Amino acid sequence: MRVFTLLLLTLMLCTCGERPTESQTEEMPATTEVEEAPEANDDAFGDVTVHPIYHGSVVLEAAGKTIFVDPHGGAERYKDFAAPQLVLITHTHGDHMDKETLAGIDLSGATLVAPAAVMEGLEDVEFGGKVSLANGESERVHSVGVEAVPAYNLPKAEDGFHPYGKFNSYLVTVDNQRFYFSGDTEDIEEMRALENVDVAFICMNQPYTMTVEQAADAVADFKPRVVYPYHYRNQGGTKSDVEKFAAILSESAPTVDVRLREWYTEAESK
Ligand code: ZN
Ligand code: ZN
Repeated sequence: MRVFTLLLLTLMLCTCGERPTESQTEEMPATTEVEEAPEANDDAFGDVTVHPIYHGSVVLEAAGKTIFVDPHGGAERYKDFAAPQLVLITHTHGDHMDKETLAGIDLSGATLVAPAAVMEGLEDVEFGGKVSLANGESERVHSVGVEAVPAYNLPKAEDGFHPYGKFNSYLVTVDNQRFYFSGDTEDIEEMRALENVDVAFICMNQPYTMTVEQAADAVADFKPRVVYPYHYRNQGGTKSDVEKFAAILSESAPTVDVRLREWYTEAESK
């Protein structure tokens, strides 16, 4: 029996190319199927895969391209990804423009795209290149289309928490698909007027951005194909009710595919 087990293990080592761990070798019955079908990746859109990272941060991987959006919460969260060609930063608040996290990322081949306020805040941080985009401007960077869309609190004011005209949302076109990252904003007319968005990431936290009702109402207006609620931790650590957001949309805009993901680790949950 022992010889048989050894034979079997040798066979498995040859076919899998991976050494089973101590506990696997002890518990594995002779008839166990070692190969499992890979799970379908439902965060893939054509050649683009989106990775929810943390709070308001997302990584996009496309053929030979890595895009970091608002990297935040420690560079370890990004260690499994290739160095980025594009880093998009929406605004100056610490949960979006995070110098400590940026310090741990290889930015030598990365072009930073950000509004002027962020350019100023990151003056002393070296990137491969920098492109300043104001609301309404767009640029093609490393064959990726990036358009800066306004992001602000209502009522429109120049001295709000997210003042009018100073910060960005982004519409990113890659592999012929349009991704919208709201950054921090309320349900403004510019968001409601968006067209042909394939995948939208929408903030909903209090008191900084939107309620789930506001967010659902805006999304029902522009009807992206897919929506991911993100940036939903409130002041004080509670979370917005993203299930309620999904429930409202299932009535008001049933064609919109709502995808709920884990944006906060257990330790951070309260
Ligand atoms: Zn903010
Ligand atoms: Zn924020």
